[in-house]
Amino acid sequence: MPTAISLTIPIEKKTAKTMKALVFHGPNQIAVESVPVPKPGPGEAVIRVTLTTICGTDLHILKGEYPVRPGLVIGHEPVGVIHELGVGVSGYQVGDRVLVGAITPCGQCNFCLSGNLAQCGGAIGGWKFGNTINGAQAEYLLVPHARANLAKIPDDLTDEQVVLLADIASTGISAAESANLQIGDTAAVFAQGPIGLCATAGAKLKGAGLIIAVESDPVRIRMAQRMGADIVLNQNEVDVVAEIRKLTGGVGVDVAIEALGTQPTFENALRVLRPGGTLSSLGVYSGKLMVPLDAFAAGLGDHKIVTTLCPGGKERMRRLMELVRHGRLDLAPFLTHSFTLDNIGEAYKLFGERRDGVIKVAIRP
Ligand SMILES: [Zn+2]
Ligand SMILES: [Zn+2]
Repeated sequence: MPTAISLTIPIEKKTAKTMKALVFHGPNQIAVESVPVPKPGPGEAVIRVTLTTICGTDLHILKGEYPVRPGLVIGHEPVGVIHELGVGVSGYQVGDRVLVGAITPCGQCNFCLSGNLAQCGGAIGGWKFGNTINGAQAEYLLVPHARANLAKIPDDLTDEQVVLLADIASTGISAAESANLQIGDTAAVFAQGPIGLCATAGAKLKGAGLIIAVESDPVRIRMAQRMGADIVLNQNEVDVVAEIRKLTGGVGVDVAIEALGTQPTFENALRVLRPGGTLSSLGVYSGKLMVPLDAFAAGLGDHKIVTTLCPGGKERMRRLMELVRHGRLDLAPFLTHSFTLDNIGEAYKLFGERRDGVIKVAIRP
């Protein structure tokens, strides 16, 4: 008589070994592909990405204007859930919801300890995701220097409320901070793309008395007003420099913010600056940038020109989340369109062509 045998087969918890990710292969060549899920080394973490977006910088990469190596997963604005922790990453649990900044400083090198977290290890060294290591447009993401970079998301905030803090809010708001904008200052913000809109919000948060934005796109003009611009000048309709001079009684503004990265906007920002004022530059320039001597008082105007790359690290993210939590910053309306990772190609097209009133796209892996 056959004996009934009960077999207990240990069922190994099924963890995915491969994931979908957007891989850059060269100018105008990107594809969603299956790649290995990363494994965290000591001090590292792997998060499952729940929400990310596309940055203007990704468009530059796609066009070949900013070189990255073929085979790289791009994207640098991740929100997710901790999937696996490497050894030594104390203070976190698998399952914690986290926001990670676009810039992931080590927190230990001379640059970081001098306060220049974005320049970690050397020029632009803090920008690692989608630049020197695999990025966030993927199902999973390896986070280096995890203890310096995983910012836990408070339960009362949604992914949508925090995703834009990783880059555009941190960068945009930094313009007024780097300029040391004082309460009651007059500020002009050149260009109201996602970063410029956040620069307008930053000028308001820092206490500017009057904020003049420069923009021609109707959707962005409305959004600029919503973010705190008192006056929006359309560069296609008025002489922006003359108008800003008039609005400031011929003096010029205390702080001029450049948020596009072109010679004309940089030059106009300088031309509307009062003597002793600060030009705070966020733009990424290519080729040569010229300083017109008449606008620069031949070098005798006590002008200050400061540049800032997106401040990163978990403390920066925590502070930005505090602004959102308490109703002082709301960027959720910027997420005008939503796509899955499979459809990210369409998202790049829409965002790149600035069709259909797009400001930022939500990508849900
Ligand atoms: Zn970016
Ligand atoms: Zn560092």
